[in-house]
Amino acid sequence: MEMKELKFDIFKEGPLVKSVSITKIMPCMAEEGRVKLAMQLDSTLDQVMPTFASKFPPGKVNYIPHKKILTLNTHERVISFFPSGKIMMMNTRDPEEGIEIITGFMEKINQCYLESESGNGGEDLSEKLSKIGPLNLYNCLPQTNCEECGTATCMAFSMKLLSGDSTLKQCKPLLKAENSGKLNSLRELLGDQLMESLGWVGN
Ligand code: SF4
Repeated sequence: MEMKELKFDIFKEGPLVKSVSITKIMPCMAEEGRVKLAMQLDSTLDQVMPTFASKFPPGKVNYIPHKKILTLNTHERVISFFPSGKIMMMNTRDPEEGIEIITGFMEKINQCYLESESGNGGEDLSEKLSKIGPLNLYNCLPQTNCEECGTATCMAFSMKLLSGDSTLKQCKPLLKAENSGKLNSLRELLGDQLMESLGWVGN
């Protein structure tokens, strides 16, 4: 539908992105009654894209490094981020819902920018992400099948970690002293950024 561009100033003091505009509202082919939104951030994303891509579980991300295009399967829809700052969001109820969702991503983008500026970000983890499978993760878990995480087996939990349906913090036994070796091997496998991406919140 034809429309006047709608601009939303979200983060007045944002270090990289401050505002987002909805440039087009289209019918969504995926579900009747829903819309597809085209949006434009007020900054390009080239610099932060590799760090931004590393913030999500592998099962939720499709990242094309040479084009710096990131597609996420999240919030029950597909959202694509382009290096120009363009965003496409499918299957959305209305513009208000789209802005609410994109505000959270803008906050994450600004965090990634600060990390890259301080020299702590920018590591391209896409290759590392593509090599991590459920067995790699399983080998670093306690392997007791205790079900404390709400999943029947440690192997099933590994698969849910990669798909983004479970988070590492749900495996409480990893914090026990007897599992410190497992935790260390997990840190070695993933590194700090991917530990965080998979939902680790401990030290
Ligand atoms: S809580 Fe940890 S050790 Fe227990 S089943 Fe889940 S993944 Fe395995």
